[in-house]
Amino acid sequence: MNKNLQEAMRKIPSMDKLLAFPWVHEYEVIIGRELVKESITEILKSEKAAILKNPDIQFETEEVFEKIRTKLHSKSYPTLRPVINSTGVVIHTNLGRSVLAEDAIKSVAEIAGSYSTLEYSLEKGSRGHRNNHVEWLVCQLTGAEAALVVNNNAGAVILTLSALSKGKEAVVSRGELVEIGGSFRIPDIMSLSGTDMIEVGTTNRTHLRDYENAITENTKLLLKIHPSNYRIAGFSSSVPREDLSELAHKNGLIFMEDLGSGMLVDTSSIGLTEDPTVRNCLEAGVDLVTFSGDKLLGGPQLGVLVGKKEIIDQLRTYPLLRALRVDKMTLSAFEATMRLYLKGDINRIPTLSMVFETEENLKHKAQLLARRIRRLVNEKLSGKAAVVKVVETKDTVGGGTFPQSILKGYGVAITIPSVCSSGVLLQKLRGYSTPIIAGASDDMVVFHVRTLLGENEKVIVSALEEIIEKN
Ligand SMILES: *Cc1c(COP(=O)(O)O)cnc(C)c1O
Repeated sequence: MNKNLQEAMRKIPSMDKLLAFPWVHEYEVIIGRELVKESITEILKSEKAAILKNPDIQFETEEVFEKIRTKLHSKSYPTLRPVINSTGVVIHTNLGRSVLAEDAIKSVAEIAGSYSTLEYSLEKGSRGHRNNHVEWLVCQLTGAEAALVVNNNAGAVILTLSALSKGKEAVVSRGELVEIGGSFRIPDIMSLSGTDMIEVGTTNRTHLRDYENAITENTKLLLKIHPSNYRIAGFSSSVPREDLSELAHKNGLIFMEDLGSGMLVDTSSIGLTEDPTVRNCLEAGVDLVTFSGDKLLGGPQLGVLVGKKEIIDQLRTYPLLRALRVDKMTLSAFEATMRLYLKGDINRIPTLSMVFETEENLKHKAQLLARRIRRLVNEKLSGKAAVVKVVETKDTVGGGTFPQSILKGYGVAITIPSVCSSGVLLQKLRGYSTPIIAGASDDMVVFHVRTLLGENEKVIVSALEEIIEKN
């Protein structure tokens, strides 16, 4: 070993020395000695490897401490944490889609901490069905004959295809063979369920006769799929539901639709007219509609199947259902959310209240936030360059819902070049104790106010204060 190498190796702190530090001990209390030692060993090993590779490397003990601290910290505290969504994307899939209504949260807490009637009939004093708690509510709100809930909409589609069309053919338009968020690709789902996918039409245009010509004695389903984030514009056409329904029924087939978001209320008053409600689809003659619980419906992650009783009854006994069943916390959140619809209290459903929020209110919210940030900036940066202004924003529903519709919103755009660049500011906001995910535009950080909840504004101001002070 050469001298430099020996010298460098000696600087690496020993395990015993590290374990004796009070700050290391604090982590030991949370995650145990074994894991603390493992984590430290890993870091010391990589430090040694780096020195062996280059003995002249500058070795900073403080840096190693920091690496150890970061590693131990990440293992000691939850990584699934609340964040502030200031992006203006209401159903932000990466940020957990819909925020539950207060009523739903209360209901979850109650059910989670107690035994419950999950599968128990109080009347009979014997076994009941978990689906019964919500089926009648879903039927009431959509006009369906019957309903079933499963883990998520992807599960609903797989369940349906497996149960109804395994070894048979399903006809689908080439314009609807989409991929939704990475791993949900219609052709893959079809083959997974053992369904022969019969593609008809072209990417941009599919006609009724295309479906008609594809029907054989082996056909079981006509399938319509919401193209989610994908849109074909210009010279394009698809077949109306009424026509597909008529064609399906004339041939003894089932007409199924994967609707994706699944709206229960009409959104045309705010200019969102692309998609029908679940009720509209059923009225147009779709036999079975599937949709998500945590998109525009504003509930927990779940998949809903609604439609003809005869079809739903077939699904109820299909063995795969057991693997896709919904747990009690989800069911209670869903029941509570559906009851808000029943009462007409949709403003208490955060997803809907954010989507329906008026421009006037958003502008007011943005002005208030801008005032608070300006006050802070004036106080802390007296005179140094900073821009804080109310701006119009292009918000979106998100979650593949109304991908073409921009919701006009408001936000506060800021730049504080004397502190850091906007890119670094975005990063620092993400690193705050309650991480803040903001938007960006024209080299400014933009806080969209539409998706802010409760006391979020206060947290944003505190985060900016800390960022400025630490600078
Ligand atoms: C979102 C979506 C899905 C997947 O739903 P999950 O509830 O996320 O499983 C399937 N199909 C369409 C059309 C969708 O928009």
